[in-house]
Amino acid sequence: MTRTILITGGGTGIGRAAARHFVGQGDSVFVTGRRPAPLDRLAQEIGVRALVCDHTRPEALTALLAELPERVDVLVNNAGGNTDFDAEIRADPGVGSREDLVAYAEAFRANLDANLISAALTTRALDGRLAAGGAVVHIGSIAADQGSGSYGASKAGLTSWNVDLARTLGPRGITANVVAPGYIADTEFFRDRLADQRREQLVAATSTGRAGSPDDVARTIAFLASAGARHITGQVLHVNGGAHATR
Ligand code: NDP
Repeated sequence: MTRTILITGGGTGIGRAAARHFVGQGDSVFVTGRRPAPLDRLAQEIGVRALVCDHTRPEALTALLAELPERVDVLVNNAGGNTDFDAEIRADPGVGSREDLVAYAEAFRANLDANLISAALTTRALDGRLAAGGAVVHIGSIAADQGSGSYGASKAGLTSWNVDLARTLGPRGITANVVAPGYIADTEFFRDRLADQRREQLVAATSTGRAGSPDDVARTIAFLASAGARHITGQVLHVNGGAHATR
């Protein structure tokens, strides 16, 4: 039977590579994002179904449900990124001032919304449609272990929340796991803010001596959603070329 796959933030980068992978396997793939243009391009290229949705907004998720089939086999919570990269640079109001605290709270919440609440809301919205034997895969980050301000905290929160999700979905035969990438090139993640020297540092930190590719992550997502991974749940699978080693 053809599986139905929903990939959030699937118009670019890792989500786009995952969409290509699942389409290549013969699955029926839905991709979402806030901007129609990248989604429409991908729909034309590989025949995915593209739906505009901001996964931080409950009302957008309600509208999304109306466009999705009654059964979803695999949910990939990939939408997200470090919202600090998009924040406008403001004059420093002085650490601890009211203005500073308001701006700090706003920036912190933006990362929690983008990476943690978005995945939790989407999973809750889809709960009744997730098929027995299916899979939920979240995209976490090496930042959850190595730190990166509120972005790292949001990805660490995602990993912690997934523990409970795996327990809740387990009796229905549905797995829930996190894929935690290290530095992945050829995505829009860093905007234009990654300096050459920092890029070199990130590559030098790997044992493989190279940046990860969106396809490296896509193949790991596909594995976790495959028949070969039915007893893997509540886990974090790291895809970082050894930049963060686990025991
Ligand atoms: P991209 O910026 O290319 O992809 C992120 C996608 O998510 C975009 O297509 C974006 O589209 C979409 N998106 C963001 N916020 C929302 C939202 N609220 N609702 C719907 N769609 C949204 O970067 P990556 O492919 O690299 O990022 C994919 C995931 O991988 C992210 O969760 C990121 O944190 C994680 N990651 C990336 C790493 C890297 O080095 N590249 C390392 C570790 C983790 P739009 O703006 O149109 O909504």
